[in-house]
Amino acid sequence: MICRILPEKCIACGLCQLKAPDYFDYYDNGLVKFSNTEKTEQLVADNIPEELLEAYRVCPTRAILLLKED
Ligand code: SF4
Repeated sequence: MICRILPEKCIACGLCQLKAPDYFDYYDNGLVKFSNTEKTEQLVADNIPEELLEAYRVCPTRAILLLKED
């Protein structure tokens, strides 16, 4: 699976880091970034970790996407 973040849709609510601190962090302006890379997408296990799934579910603006690899 691919996890993609869309900082342009992020409203800096803070929920994703609350749910999945291992995955999500924020820029100084509060917009989402990954904890481990400046890229906006990364591979994640097909068996999606529960905390990542939770973050995906709670994001109010769908700024976190989980996509199947092509
Ligand atoms: S949950 Fe969504 S809107 Fe809130 S900080 Fe995370 S990416 Fe941004």
